[in-house]
Amino acid sequence: MFAHCAGCICGEEAMAENDRTREGDKPSGARPTDTGSDTEDVRKAPPARSHGRLSIRPTAVPRPLMEEKRLEDAWTARVVTLLPEAFPGPLGLSLTGRALKERIWQLETIDLRRFGVGRHRNVDDMPAGGGPGMVLRPDVLAAAIEEARRGVKAPRSAWPLLLLSPRGRPFDQAMARRLAAGRGVTLVCGRFEGVDQRVIDHYDLEEVSIGDFVLTGGEIAAMALIDATVRLIPRVLGNQASTEEESFSHGLLEHPQYTRPTDWEGRRIPEVLLSGHHANIARWRSEQSVKLTQERRPDLWRAWRARRGGDPEGDQEL
Ligand code: SAH
Repeated sequence: MFAHCAGCICGEEAMAENDRTREGDKPSGARPTDTGSDTEDVRKAPPARSHGRLSIRPTAVPRPLMEEKRLEDAWTARVVTLLPEAFPGPLGLSLTGRALKERIWQLETIDLRRFGVGRHRNVDDMPAGGGPGMVLRPDVLAAAIEEARRGVKAPRSAWPLLLLSPRGRPFDQAMARRLAAGRGVTLVCGRFEGVDQRVIDHYDLEEVSIGDFVLTGGEIAAMALIDATVRLIPRVLGNQASTEEESFSHGLLEHPQYTRPTDWEGRRIPEVLLSGHHANIARWRSEQSVKLTQERRPDLWRAWRARRGGDPEGDQEL
């Protein structure tokens, strides 16, 4: 049994927490998967429905008043996507999944295909000026965005309208915090070569990137953004202290973590963590955070130093 201290889970608590997590990890049933075709299969797929997930449809019967109230209150992610069946995906599991079922937050998908034009409900067309791939049409996207904006009473600052895009501003923990403090977010997922620039300009879509790489579509990026945001909403994690200590919260990377067994493959947990001496443990963790950040992320280290008025190029310890 480890020495126990406030704000951390150790010993029996750690095991109990793990068990709770595993409990929430049980899959709630098979879901349709993306077959790789962006045209036929999506259109034919039956609307996926699962616990805690809502699809917005123009024909949907009004929800009971009680439910409307909950819908008003809970933090909401609305996702415009060609692949609504990809959601909730991992967001429907474990801690975020439990919170979704409990309506601490909600997820609504808007199926872009429904707004497609012609018999085949086309959503894309060839790029003007030539080149490979297809571009999502502005009229189709606009119709879906209009639907996504319906009923949103919060100002843009409390409910931003974002486009997932590799050209966007890099998503980070500060943005996750801002989003979690608001009422919700509407996310537009691109596909193929991306979206027509005019729809970005018209709706002043804020482009957000999850990293310097190119995905095939915005859905995985949307899930990453939603996951990082939702876990900051009070009551989602259960143990709020864990979000205050972790990586990026103070601008530094997190210290290493250990759990039982105390001895594993000849490697022991650092003695200080078993000492029960809270001040020493806090100092050790802080030193480890600084060391890791200096080694791995000199950019974060410089920013951290600069914020504290230190010489950003300097290398002194805390
Ligand atoms: N031709 C585009 C890439 C399109 S990728 C370009 O070079 O910029 C197709 C879609 O995937 C994009 O519209 C976007 O919604 C999503 N996507 C791809 N990479 C992403 C990233 N790093 N962050 C967020 N969304 C991304």
